Amino acid sequence: MRIILFGPPGVGKGSQAQFLSEREDVTHVSTGILLRRAIESGTDLGRKAQGYVESGELVPGVLVRSLAEDAVSACNFERYVLDGYPRTIEQAEWIDAFLEENQAPIDTVLSLKVPNSVIVDRLSKRRVHKITGENFHLDFKPAPSDVDPSLIIQRTDDMPDAIQHRLEIYDEETHPVQAYYRERGLLREIDGNGAFEEVYGRILSAIRVSVS
Ligand code: AMP
Repeated sequence: MRIILFGPPGVGKGSQAQFLSEREDVTHVSTGILLRRAIESGTDLGRKAQGYVESGELVPGVLVRSLAEDAVSACNFERYVLDGYPRTIEQAEWIDAFLEENQAPIDTVLSLKVPNSVIVDRLSKRRVHKITGENFHLDFKPAPSDVDPSLIIQRTDDMPDAIQHRLEIYDEETHPVQAYYRERGLLREIDGNGAFEEVYGRILSAIRVSVS
């Protein structure tokens, strides 16, 4: 199961990928989470990436490339779901070449689709655990009461101006990436509207069809 899960910020891909990793024994590789961890730990990479992440800009590809490739290698090239990577054609070409060299090409690319108005609502109500990176939602998935509330924060890039900016970046930069995978016959579009379990069911069916 070598999957890329694709979709604009706030479409719920992070939560779906996390759920999938728990249920199906696959590793959730999120470049967003890896970057935020690097920033929290104050690593050199984290310091270089911080300004971009906080303003919702794409981090220069070279910084994210090693994070993604190291994480996939750590899975022995099997049973992972890549979330948030690749986001540009350049990144798609890098990861494809890297996986080909290791005789383990991607099985399927899933693209979650949700209207922008729903995305803005979801993102502005999203909260994240400062340490684990787990996502919550004020309406649909509030943080459990035993979690220290001071650890539950709103990401700077989930503020309204940054959301708008991220959606614009997504449109400009990542539509070509979907076209790239569509041309290769790997892209499967999934309706991301509806209850979490319902969307998860669609994701699972698409994976089973592609991987079997
Ligand atoms: P995410 O959690 O996937 O929404 O990512 C949060 C932020 O991390 C993005 O807004 C970017 O600043 C940065 N980021 C994550 N993945 C990438 C990537 N593949 N390329 C460039 N920047 C990225």
